[in-house]
Amino acid sequence: MDQLIKDIDIITGEEAQAVDYKTTVEENTGKSKKIYIESYGCQMNFSDSEIVASIMKENGYDTTSDFQQADVVFLNTCSIREKAEQTVRNRLNHFNAVKKHKPEMTIGVLGCMAERLKDKLLEEEKIVDVVVGPDAYRDLPNLVNAAEDGRKGVNTFLSREETYADIAPVRLNSNGVTAFISIMRGCDNMCSFCVVPFTRGRERSRDPHSIVAEAQDLFNKGYKEVTLLGQNVDSYKWSPEENNKARLNKKEGDVTEVVNFANLLEMVAQVSPLLRVRFSTSHPKDITDEVLYTIKKYDNICKYIHLPVQSGNSRVLELMNRTYDREWYLNRVQAIREILGEECGISSDMIAGFCTETEEEHQDTLTMMDIVKYDFSYMFYYSERPGTLAAKKYEDDIPLDVKKRRLAEIISKQSQISFERNKLDLGKEQIILIEGTSKKSQDELKGRNSANKVVIVPAAGLKMGDYVKVKITDCSPATLFGEVLEVNPTFA
Ligand code: SAM
Ligand code: SF4
Repeated sequence: MDQLIKDIDIITGEEAQAVDYKTTVEENTGKSKKIYIESYGCQMNFSDSEIVASIMKENGYDTTSDFQQADVVFLNTCSIREKAEQTVRNRLNHFNAVKKHKPEMTIGVLGCMAERLKDKLLEEEKIVDVVVGPDAYRDLPNLVNAAEDGRKGVNTFLSREETYADIAPVRLNSNGVTAFISIMRGCDNMCSFCVVPFTRGRERSRDPHSIVAEAQDLFNKGYKEVTLLGQNVDSYKWSPEENNKARLNKKEGDVTEVVNFANLLEMVAQVSPLLRVRFSTSHPKDITDEVLYTIKKYDNICKYIHLPVQSGNSRVLELMNRTYDREWYLNRVQAIREILGEECGISSDMIAGFCTETEEEHQDTLTMMDIVKYDFSYMFYYSERPGTLAAKKYEDDIPLDVKKRRLAEIISKQSQISFERNKLDLGKEQIILIEGTSKKSQDELKGRNSANKVVIVPAAGLKMGDYVKVKITDCSPATLFGEVLEVNPTFA
């Protein structure tokens, strides 16, 4: 257990979020200037960086993977836990040293940290020239121009309408097979621990026709999988009146064509049976049987649901303002099992040591894991965030060593359960989509099955983007291993 606690910052999302940033790829279309972007945090941020790259491209910038070559450096930041912010500050120190030799380089902080700290960031981090929140990216070229003229710029305006629906993202770090599509922005839930409603603003859904067009375009370009992204995809709702500003002034009888998440899933699934569809994140209070039946109806909608529980105890869930209790959550899991079967992948997010959590309540999270049998989880200990409801109302009273010990117990249990779940796949035939090379060997490729599990297969005769029928022959807690039975089988 001691080793586990020591390693905790490395193996949990806590540190993973902090160190696992992605940089831009080289894109040379002959533009005169270059931007370099580092993205931290959630998939939504990576997706936003692709919008930023597109906006900058329109304004004369190519991307570079070498910040030494860049005229403009952007850090697209995350505020979800304290450590994520600290990492960005450390990284800024690093760029400070570079800027000493290259004073004309513009440095921008984008995303959640920009939104949370606003112009305070300019005072605290002297090297920063522009600070831009998630809804103000269209203003980036102006702000960068101003910075080049020696004026620092801040735009952290939060919009009720901006969805960047008309912007075709520049695919950064693309494997050419899988891509993210943002279907909504912001969040109207007020989970008491969470900074997202303050940093990303009100929830708004993007025009479904622009989403389908983006999926179709990706498919035409050879992509085989799209992941529909939102903080709470199951509350996706769009209609000409329901959407945007008009929904605030909506009169009775105004709504015409309402598209909910189940409808949207169906529309995207119909782009092609050869385009896999995934989505994330599902809030347990919103996921409906209609969505589950839509997943069942289409073979190309992956049988995998990320359904963060956060805690297994009803009192803690109430303090977290999650608006469901243990019973409701278990009922939703039962519906998933009844409609989609045992093979449907379920994953979770868990927070250890939330304010006032007792040992018994922590045990409820462990028993929840035993009952649901998550295939995978992102596990964190509670990190108080300034301005959130929990920071205002509750004392962060669980000592760090207790939080870490409880988290270690959660991680240890998840590892056992993941192994158990993976063993159930042994001997089974599954279809995987090849999306990259195995980290361990160039002679092996990795793909994912419908339930989102990574499957490693010998590379011979296969290429990126192939659908492969495999037989699962071995497994570890994190990975399945397979033998190839058939390449690009015909789908019914
Ligand atoms: N919208 C998603 C949902 O409701 O499940 C989650 C989005 S949030 C970016 C990802 C995860 O970070 C959350 O599910 C939660 O487990 C974790 N998280 C958020 N705030 C946290 C905090 N203050 N301390 C620790 N973990 C936190
Ligand atoms: Fe944060 Fe809750 Fe919204 Fe998820 S649903 S982004 S945890 S407030």
